[in-house]
Amino acid sequence: MVKITVLGYYGGYPFNGDGTSSYLVQTETFNLLLDCGSGALIELEKHLDPLQLDAVILTHYHADHIADVGVLQHYWQLAKGNKKTPILPIYGHSLDQQNFEKLNWPNATKAYSYQVGQKLNLGPLSVTFFEVKHPVKTFAMRIMNSMTNENFVFTGDTTTIDGLAEFAKNTDLLITDTNFLDIPDGPKWHLTASESGELAKNANTKLLMMSHLPQHVSTADLIVAAQKSAGLIKVVTAYKGMVTVIDRQ
Ligand SMILES: [Zn+2]
Ligand SMILES: [Zn+2]
Repeated sequence: MVKITVLGYYGGYPFNGDGTSSYLVQTETFNLLLDCGSGALIELEKHLDPLQLDAVILTHYHADHIADVGVLQHYWQLAKGNKKTPILPIYGHSLDQQNFEKLNWPNATKAYSYQVGQKLNLGPLSVTFFEVKHPVKTFAMRIMNSMTNENFVFTGDTTTIDGLAEFAKNTDLLITDTNFLDIPDGPKWHLTASESGELAKNANTKLLMMSHLPQHVSTADLIVAAQKSAGLIKVVTAYKGMVTVIDRQ
């Protein structure tokens, strides 16, 4: 079983009470926080005692993915209660040394680096990486329950890039950075809904969840646009508190 709870799903900045990129990923025995955007901690508290986290992993160091790392470190340092692990490991890439070092906090959290080509084992979860296309170093992740092979891919933040569909091939769930309904004027560092649908189709995923959503576009419009290119693949948009369970048993 892999259970994914959306804690925040907006791109860029929080809006109207809902936060930015953050997901709680759980098996029966392991609690992983995937990205730690604005509002992540206050939403996490509704689903899990934060001190029961086993690890945190970050796709990149833009603020909408790491805004709550600092308060999580303070939480680990100051909050009363039984910690599942005395020092919380935070995994990030070390290609930006300055931001990587900030994942260390005395007696609270410790930074660990990951890289492409590595299979990172976090309890029952195994994580592999694919470098995507964004203005800063960013990595998509394929996260699998190594006991059951249930797995999903999270694209992180990326525009279209060759190889991503292959990386996400036949996954149970694909969570994409869908920040646009249409191709924007100016720089484009995320996917459109139609591109997300196409990626899902090429990857032959079972379920497409569009996330990292824009604040002022209707989710119905995003789904219509994505479904056109996704064919028969089921398409949904993320919302706060949304729970998806991958269970092949
Ligand atoms: Zn972002
Ligand atoms: Zn970003």
